[in-house]
Amino acid sequence: MSSSPDTVAREVRRRRTFAIISHPDAGKSTMTEALALHARMISEAGAVHGKAGRKATVSDWMEMEKARGISVSSTALQFNYTPTGLANEDPGSDFEPNVINLVDTPGHADFSEDTYRVLTAVDAAVMLIDAAKGLEPQTLKLFQVCRHRGIPVITVVNKWDRPGQTPLELIDEIAERIGLTPTPLYVPVGIAGDFRGLLDRRSGKYVKFSRTAGGAKIAPEELLDAEQAAAAEGDAWTAAVEESELLSEMGQDHDQELFLAGETSPMIFTSAMLNFGVRQLLEALVELAPPPAGREDVDGKVREVTDPFAAVVFKVQAGMDSSHRDRLAYMRIVSGEFERGMVVTHAQTDRPFATKYAQAVFGRDRSTVDTAYPGDVVGLVNATALAPGDTLYDGPRVEFPPIGSFAPEHFATLRARSAGKYKQFRKAMDQLESEGVVQVLRNDTRGDASPVLAAVGPMQFEVVTARMLAEFTVETDLEPLGYSLARRTDDDSSPELDRQRGVEVFTRTDGALLALFSDKWRLQYIEKEHPDLTLEPLVAAAD
Ligand code: GDP
Repeated sequence: MSSSPDTVAREVRRRRTFAIISHPDAGKSTMTEALALHARMISEAGAVHGKAGRKATVSDWMEMEKARGISVSSTALQFNYTPTGLANEDPGSDFEPNVINLVDTPGHADFSEDTYRVLTAVDAAVMLIDAAKGLEPQTLKLFQVCRHRGIPVITVVNKWDRPGQTPLELIDEIAERIGLTPTPLYVPVGIAGDFRGLLDRRSGKYVKFSRTAGGAKIAPEELLDAEQAAAAEGDAWTAAVEESELLSEMGQDHDQELFLAGETSPMIFTSAMLNFGVRQLLEALVELAPPPAGREDVDGKVREVTDPFAAVVFKVQAGMDSSHRDRLAYMRIVSGEFERGMVVTHAQTDRPFATKYAQAVFGRDRSTVDTAYPGDVVGLVNATALAPGDTLYDGPRVEFPPIGSFAPEHFATLRARSAGKYKQFRKAMDQLESEGVVQVLRNDTRGDASPVLAAVGPMQFEVVTARMLAEFTVETDLEPLGYSLARRTDDDSSPELDRQRGVEVFTRTDGALLALFSDKWRLQYIEKEHPDLTLEPLVAAAD
């Protein structure tokens, strides 16, 4: 029943799976919509994220979330894209469009473990920057995760239709603050606020854009050679040419190897709102971003994309929609062909897992998926047994390494308001912990009635208390703890650490011993006084 490795290899070649990383308000939703418009998934911008009902359709799965107009969880968007000029090429051939998977990262200011996990499921990232604001805290954090995971990054400077910094200022800022060398594929013609078009640095040609009413449609493009461009744009063209030459002199031309090695980042200037530069971004993704590749298993052996089916669960989500109260697990396919209805094996339990309710998810509408290939993201309904990091496979057994847990920076105790609800509370805690909603820490002093919750972002706590109430009818009291830092320690060091003021040692459910500190000065003091103690930083991703 399964397709041949050749079919899988062909499907893999045309796939690109990426995420957009950005600080809130840089324009991620607008860009997502612009990409959907260019892929002809929607006919007009405004359909997915209308101005009034902004972000209304992207997995707004809890009342809390609706009230704030933010998206707590991620969705995956899949669309076909045919690079320009290829659509009608040799109609008799078996030409197939590219398949683009856009995995959405949570778009709010708070940072959660979900964001990190999503980035384990992509092969490339688009770092979206607001031309006026440059690098912002969230962009920096997300970028660090990309670097840690070796994810190649394409940089997009958005909102070029509004006043902002100069291209060289932005380039310098990125090079200096994150140590990534931007290699612009295009430079803008016209300063920020006067966006006329793009100089394609590789062809030397000018892509001139025209506005459409309200930016609702794909912006018409005109391709001019250098002479025509100089005549049309005068000084703005000359400035762009000079900038491009300067970049070449500094060695900032695109180099595919350095890009894939995470040393350089192809850069594009866009206006998501006017749909300028969006096609160029799609073409760069297709041309430069790597297709899905095999993945190392726990023994260091690579499961190749053409091997039998295997996938990694990277995200679990419950209570997504009041009309579908269920638990949905998202898996990223690593190898082989996935067919809905397949019965696969859950590596962590060695139990069979039936996939007859597999779904592709877009906005509020769920559509069923029948076949999927490496790089694709599939939602599995009623996935009570699955947790982030789990492996599903068919054929030869495989188990991928755990996704890892991330350095928590926020800590609080939680207890059931009524002692009579204790049993329910325990059950809920286990459930939420297994979904990876929050990390749970325990020690003998505090006991089990009020475990310590540890989170990367404080919104994870709100999700816990809201779900405790909505799904388990347990009212809880959350009390923030005065710790802000965790270090991994060991059995030898913990007695001494426990004696210190402002320090407490806990066991995480995965068995790791974590010492919590009130602040970094406390930590530095203890490290100085007791240099023999084991205090290892928890790396941002996959420690
Ligand atoms: P997100 O929080 O990153 O998803 O950002 P949104 O897509 O919601 O955009 C934030 C605000 O910036 C909205 O008011 C958008 O209309 C606006 N915006 C997004 N892209 C552009 C752009 O290219 N130019 C201008 N002028 N505004 C933009």
